[in-house]
Amino acid sequence: MRNTVHIIGAGISGLSAAVRLANANFKVHVHEATQQAGGRCRSYFDASTNLTIDNGNHLLLSGNRHAVAYARSIGTEAGLVGPKRAQFPFVDLATGQRWQLDLGESRLPLWVFNEARRVPDTGLLDYLALMPLIWASKSKLVSDAIPCQGTLYRRLVQPLLLAALNVDPPEGSAGLAGAVVRETLLAGGQACRPLIARDGLSAVLVEPAVKLLQDKGASVRFGHELRQFGLSAASVAELKFGGDTVGVGPDDAVVLAVPPRPAATLLPGLKTPSKFRAIVNAHFRFDPPKDMPPILGVVGGLVEWLFAFPQRLSVTISNGDRLVDMPREELAQAIWRDVCRAGGVEGELPPWQIVRERRATFEATPEQNALRPGVSTALKNLFLAGDWTDTGLPATIEGSVRSGNRAADLVLAMRQA
Ligand SMILES: Cc1cc2nc3c(=O)[nH]c(=O)nc-3n(C[C@H](O)[C@H](O)[C@H](O)COP(=O)(O)OP(=O)(O)OC[C@H]3O[C@@H](n4cnc5c(N)ncnc54)[C@H](O)[C@@H]3O)c2cc1C
Repeated sequence: MRNTVHIIGAGISGLSAAVRLANANFKVHVHEATQQAGGRCRSYFDASTNLTIDNGNHLLLSGNRHAVAYARSIGTEAGLVGPKRAQFPFVDLATGQRWQLDLGESRLPLWVFNEARRVPDTGLLDYLALMPLIWASKSKLVSDAIPCQGTLYRRLVQPLLLAALNVDPPEGSAGLAGAVVRETLLAGGQACRPLIARDGLSAVLVEPAVKLLQDKGASVRFGHELRQFGLSAASVAELKFGGDTVGVGPDDAVVLAVPPRPAATLLPGLKTPSKFRAIVNAHFRFDPPKDMPPILGVVGGLVEWLFAFPQRLSVTISNGDRLVDMPREELAQAIWRDVCRAGGVEGELPPWQIVRERRATFEATPEQNALRPGVSTALKNLFLAGDWTDTGLPATIEGSVRSGNRAADLVLAMRQA
């Protein structure tokens, strides 16, 4: 008889667990509170720009091997596209200077030895000063481990760590920053090729997973919010959805793949991160010039990353809490001014949309990182997944997929026990 697993939450962590378990011949039931899968990684039609947009520009790197493997497992690896070489053009809006960081194609960070490929006005010693980050402990701040000033910091370390941690880097966890550096910069250009879901997050990372699950006989129910667990001894025995209750057999498993706040409500006493940071994205309906790079790093302005999509220019601003209450029109104008300067385009403000995800990620500080639980719980058939669980990485797609895979592996181990 096939074992049954219930996955609560159809974000990337829940979907990756569900796909792994459906492939292992489990009877999978996915329960999602909203009407759409994808959670914080989704696309939707936006009437203001008359375009399908993503809730946020999501950047993966070729070294995000679990995320890439997840895309492969749902048949969409080819939908993650990017330049063949790990090259990152940058502009400094304060000085007007432009440069390109060229991380090459090696498995080693050989680019730091080549002045032409490094950040301009930086020397080898600046890069060596970053080494303490690689083995920094979880309890340390980034500012305890490396210098948070100077040209290399301003032009590379700050943009990279701000994007990865979603906090101002000096206050971030050195342990998490070190994991990012080990898996990207230190792993050479081969691990740093930027990858974007060109046809949209949902088309590449979400809908094909839902289809695969349905094709394998799984059920995916939307508008099906878990309200409470019914317990018996040390196991989950019931899932109470408000309107209906589903029984969970002694050999059945449950993967709770919801964000920290609902997880803490469903499991009183569960330790979870409790502080979050916003990410602001702006989308402009505008045909990018032909020579515009797909991703442009921007320093010295409001905009941090500028993405060129067909018919659309999109901007990401991390650690965006300072912008969440700013009047929308004013914010759109300010961002558009930066876009014009960074992208070398001009014109009146085109049709636009601003998406402010207030709780985009947990705060990647040592204090909040210490609150992340592991996969197992006190209930023997209940496992946790989500970018906020203790993945060793900041809140990213890569971390979400890893957490989903780990939860699935423990469910598999339970069947074998
Ligand atoms: C604007 C933005 C930009 C980002 N940029 C990047 C990036 O460039 N690169 C990167 O790697 N990562 C990025 N991230 C982070 C990435 O999106 C997340 O790490 C990832 O999507 C989290 O997936 P998850 O499955 O862990 O959680 P979620 O996506 O939060 O999924 C949880 C799901 O559970 C559902 N749910 C909640 N409560 C219940 C309930 N009681 N019953 C049933 N279902 C429930 C929710 O509706 C949701 O669908 C970004 C995030 C945002 C918001």
